[in-house]
Amino acid sequence: MTRCLNCGADRDADICASCGLSSSAAEFALRRKLLNRTALFVLGALAFVAASGRYPALDLDGLLIFIGALFFPTLGLAIWVERRALRHAEVEAMKRIYYGLVPLPWLFSVLLLANGALDRAPAQTQVARVVGKFSMAGALPSRRLVVTSWREGHRVERLWVDRSDFDSFSRGDFVEVKVQGGLVGIPWVAGVSHH
Ligand SMILES: [Zn+2]
Repeated sequence: MTRCLNCGADRDADICASCGLSSSAAEFALRRKLLNRTALFVLGALAFVAASGRYPALDLDGLLIFIGALFFPTLGLAIWVERRALRHAEVEAMKRIYYGLVPLPWLFSVLLLANGALDRAPAQTQVARVVGKFSMAGALPSRRLVVTSWREGHRVERLWVDRSDFDSFSRGDFVEVKVQGGLVGIPWVAGVSHH
C-alpha cells in the first residue's frame, strides 16, 4: 500500500481511486506543484531582500542570517521530496512541511514592509561616529557604515546605506542617524546625514 503522490490518498492499484491519476501522472503533477511552490518561495526570499532594503532594520544582519538559515534547508527539503517522488516513495509528511515553509519569506516581507510603511511615530535622532566602512560587491551589493552604538549592550551599529551616502562619509565623521521604532517593534533606519 502506497499513497498517491498527487492527492495523498492510500491506493492499492495504479489508478488512484480518489483522484483518478495513474502513479506516473501523479508523480508528474506533484513535481509540477513542487516547482511552482519553489518559484513562489524563491520570489518570497527576493521580496524579503527588497523589503529590507526599503526599510533597513537596525539588526538587519541578524534577520538576513535567519532568512538564510531558513532558505537553504527549505530548498534542500524540496529537492529531497522531489527525489523521493521520482522513486515513488512516501513523501506526504515532508511535502506538507515544505508547503508550510513556502509562505514564510512572504510573511516576513509583509511584516518588514508594514513595520516601516505604517510607522507613524516621529523618528529619533541619534548622533554617532563612523568607525568603519564596509562594502561588498556581488549579486546583492551591500554598503555599511559602522558607527558607534547608542544602544545599551551594543558596541557598534552596522547601517545599510546607498552608494552616495557611503561615499560621502569618512571614518571619524559624526553622523545623525534617524531611527524609527517600527510598527511591530523592529527598529529601522530612516536616514543618515552629516552632523
Ligand atoms: Zn490520488
